[in-house]
Amino acid sequence: MEVIDLRSDTVTKPTDEMRKAMAAAEVGDDVYGEDPTVRKLETIAAEMVGKEAALFVTSGTMGNQVAAMTHLARGEEVILEAESHMFYYEVGGLALLAGAQTRTIQGEKGFMPPELIAQAIREENIHFPRTGLLCLENTHNRAGGTVLTPEQISAMAQVAHDRGIPVHLDGARIFNAATALGIDVRELTAPVDSVMFCLSKGLGAPVGSMLAGRKEFIEKARKNRKVLGGGLRQAGILAAAGIIALEKMVGRLAEDHYRARLLAENLANIPGLTIDPAAFPTNILICSVAKLGISAQHFSTLLARHGILANPTSPTEIRFVTHKDVTEDQIKRAINNINQVVKGVNHF
Ligand SMILES: *Cc1c(COP(=O)(O)O)cnc(C)c1O
Repeated sequence: MEVIDLRSDTVTKPTDEMRKAMAAAEVGDDVYGEDPTVRKLETIAAEMVGKEAALFVTSGTMGNQVAAMTHLARGEEVILEAESHMFYYEVGGLALLAGAQTRTIQGEKGFMPPELIAQAIREENIHFPRTGLLCLENTHNRAGGTVLTPEQISAMAQVAHDRGIPVHLDGARIFNAATALGIDVRELTAPVDSVMFCLSKGLGAPVGSMLAGRKEFIEKARKNRKVLGGGLRQAGILAAAGIIALEKMVGRLAEDHYRARLLAENLANIPGLTIDPAAFPTNILICSVAKLGISAQHFSTLLARHGILANPTSPTEIRFVTHKDVTEDQIKRAINNINQVVKGVNHF
């Protein structure tokens, strides 16, 4: 049976061009700063997001956690969105690794009203922790790949900067955001002090993410990466694929967005499923199965029997993610199979 994997864009496999580049990559010991391919990737990445320097890390989680460790002193407070990846999905790393206390704000599609951020920033008081960092997320994963505009990012960052607090952007899918807005990614990264983005999601690299920021910040971050065991040796093998991800794969993300829209519009026409296609501007869709009267987990199991893989994100919601390894034809077959499954559920 053909399997159409819509669980995440992390399931993308490296392209042939990536595999060839990996095989041919010039390498050295990157802990000694001697891997030319890693250095090249770091230079390209920094330039693309308009920062002085960048650091190759093993995963998005490592990039975010290294950023937090680098920005924060132990016992400080970090402000972040209540549904953010750094709060929700990073295994408590902010407490465990950065020694930070979290202060969440309920946002709307990743946007936190600046007045709420201002209220959350601590005054000087002997009883209070110091607010040490504001974190933003674009695209916002749990909201369904929603996009923050440069104006929204600037408005949020401004409040923190006015109080001398740095801003980190979890931009795992920042190129999806820039693509959806039709702007240069630098417009989204200019207002923040550091940004993490993933090479191994929609961009198709097998491993790796980048952390970018000012030169001194990245130097400190490099040391924090080492303490986490993230100092790699002949990492040029991996960086070679990352270079192709940045140079060749960004331009095709619009296709993933188009396919997500196609899927969303068709799901919206299936009785029993609830989705507003306009709410999902990039490659992530979240669809409610509440009216079907079965749990999202059960629905996911039924879909899997029809070769469609998708993850529940709540007891009533299931998430579909489009990516380079799912063709338009496969999306059409997925729509058919999802229809079959819904028809098979009792009264539909
Ligand atoms: C995927 C993701 C990450 C983490 O990336 P990993 O490489 O899976 O550790 C961080 N933030 C967001 C918003 C993500 O979607």
